[in-house]
Amino acid sequence: MSADPRRQVPRTDTLLAEPALAAAAERLGRELVKAAVQEVQQQVRAGAVAPGAAVAAVLAGLPPTPGSLRPVLNATGVLVHTNLGRAPLSPAAVEAVTAASGTTDVELDLSTGRRGPRGEAAISALLAAVPAAEAAIVVNNCAAALALVATALGGELVLARGELVEIGDGFRIPELLAATGARLREVGTTNRVTLDDYLAAVGDSTGAVLKVHPSNFVVRGFTRAVPVAELAGALAGRGVPLVADVGSGLLRPHPVLPEEPDLQTTLADGADLVLASGDKLLGGPQAGLVLGRAALVQRLRRHPLYRALRVDKTTLAALEATLRGPLPPVQQMLAADAAVLRRRAEALAARLTAGGIDAEAVDSEARVGGGGAPEHPLPSAAVALPAGYAEALRAGSPPVVGYVAGDRTLLDLRSLPAAADDALAAAVLAVAGEVA
Ligand SMILES: *Cc1c(COP(=O)(O)O)cnc(C)c1O
Repeated sequence: MSADPRRQVPRTDTLLAEPALAAAAERLGRELVKAAVQEVQQQVRAGAVAPGAAVAAVLAGLPPTPGSLRPVLNATGVLVHTNLGRAPLSPAAVEAVTAASGTTDVELDLSTGRRGPRGEAAISALLAAVPAAEAAIVVNNCAAALALVATALGGELVLARGELVEIGDGFRIPELLAATGARLREVGTTNRVTLDDYLAAVGDSTGAVLKVHPSNFVVRGFTRAVPVAELAGALAGRGVPLVADVGSGLLRPHPVLPEEPDLQTTLADGADLVLASGDKLLGGPQAGLVLGRAALVQRLRRHPLYRALRVDKTTLAALEATLRGPLPPVQQMLAADAAVLRRRAEALAARLTAGGIDAEAVDSEARVGGGGAPEHPLPSAAVALPAGYAEALRAGSPPVVGYVAGDRTLLDLRSLPAAADDALAAAVLAVAGEVA
């Protein structure tokens, strides 16, 4: 004859006073641990957990960190995957973020004790990487850079109809520009625009001529666009700034992506300002980079909206380390040799086969992603598994995101650092039992 089981349910304060749970509360916060305690108390009441096992059950139910974002293995073959947080930071950038996370000298000159220019080191790293720029500022993202330009330069923005781009998830550049109150003066047709179209539209009310790189689509056939160099030459002396949104964040021309515009060349071709994202091909933190003529950059920096769009100390730290430190993961992935990827796929397939899994190394095609180089597949290699693995791997720990092609799950290795191969193999072996 047992006593009322409710009597045996350990009390909340008794459990929270247990050293292991008190330590967890220090690390994760008391509320989170208390919620886990209450959950386990329910299970004890229901007879699913023995009272003596309550502490262990609470510990097992606690998340590893108070944040809920989890590290994910990106085996999609999409190097810059917006849903997976775009560019993974380099270890050097992570270290810089950690160092800057506390109290830091982001706006203090330690030698004089006076206020210093915010983010000066990140700006000088940008200028060193893009010598054609006289000055630079960093804002929240490329969309913020566009909003700042449209607001601060004011007046009418002249841009080609074929460059009224939607980037993704309903983000339409013309709608963003219009939301700032700027007037859009569209020139040309969907497929063709000429220099005369631009020049006929430029007048006293023009705030800027804007070129937007159509990052995620191509128009083929009877098409015509006006290159930056030609437009810049024709606008020279008219006092109308030419602003080019290149999106991808490539600093210099890249041999793997010859079609992709870069900041240095676009400025050297005569653009007055260039805009780009920090977390696409540059491989850094989310940021909007604005580089170009000092007077224009100064105008943007002085505009009240800049204060609402500026980035925090950790972004500045990550950006500087990305620019000055070792090659960030995205750029390593871009440069990866297909034969090396193939050898990784074969080694992984052999390990998984030895574990009783139906695995095979196959050739695949990776993509830049993040709205970049849509027509440029990158030769890659993948581990092919039965289709059922995709879902089980996504629900695993760590989650692995691959893709299904036909009746197979493919795990592409170009989007995954080689250092993660062991974790990938372990994740596949861990779910093998669940996939019939
Ligand atoms: C990606 C992209 C943007 C948006 O950049 P965010 O940094 O995501 O705001 C703007 N313009 C172009 C051309 C792009 O490719």
